[in-house]
Amino acid sequence: MASIDSMTELLVDQLKDLYDAEKRLTKAIPKLAKKATNDQLRSALEEHLEETEQQVARLEEAFEHMGETARAKPCAGMRGIIEEGNEHVGEDYEDDDLRDAVIIGSAQRVEHYEIAAYGTAIAHAKLLGQNEVVELLLESLNEEKAADEKLTEIAEGVVNLEAANQDEDEESEGAMAGLGVMLGRKRATVSQRATAAARPAGSRKRTAARTSSGGRSRR
Ligand code: FE
Ligand code: ZN
Ligand code: FE
Repeated sequence: MASIDSMTELLVDQLKDLYDAEKRLTKAIPKLAKKATNDQLRSALEEHLEETEQQVARLEEAFEHMGETARAKPCAGMRGIIEEGNEHVGEDYEDDDLRDAVIIGSAQRVEHYEIAAYGTAIAHAKLLGQNEVVELLLESLNEEKAADEKLTEIAEGVVNLEAANQDEDEESEGAMAGLGVMLGRKRATVSQRATAAARPAGSRKRTAARTSSGGRSRR
């Protein structure tokens, strides 16, 4: 491997690494989005896919400013993060909310890695006085930060709550199983609950409905 003997080469090398990472993500994000059940999560991923395509284009522009041809250099870090994410997301989950929680975790690992990479590249571009490159990379960095925050919001607002509630359901259903049998009522099957979880926008309504029907059948 040729040695890197200037800051300019170092920056170009980082652009190649980022270029590879972003291009991998244009293929990885749709797979995550497809597995997401929560509507907010799915649309956040789809929106970020569009941004990612813009980020690829911005990197091509940055290469141009540096007088270089856009070329990717395998980013082992992103390859690993994507691989690990696919592994975790591909596990069997009792509930879709649990898988959604894992998808959020995987996506946030991606965002944090990108934030670190863009941060370093921006610092180096600043040192080199490559102001157009700084601007381009900053735009992408801000999108990564916003995507990360959005994912936190979704996790705190819906997905983790629902995943945690399902735990409680599990426990109370366990405790209520005997009573359910006495009352001759069948408990909702996992697949019925998964279907309910997949219903759009009605998380609060659904929880309320579940609680009230649960109350009726169990009291
Ligand atoms: Fe990105
Ligand atoms: Zn990398
Ligand atoms: Fe990103």
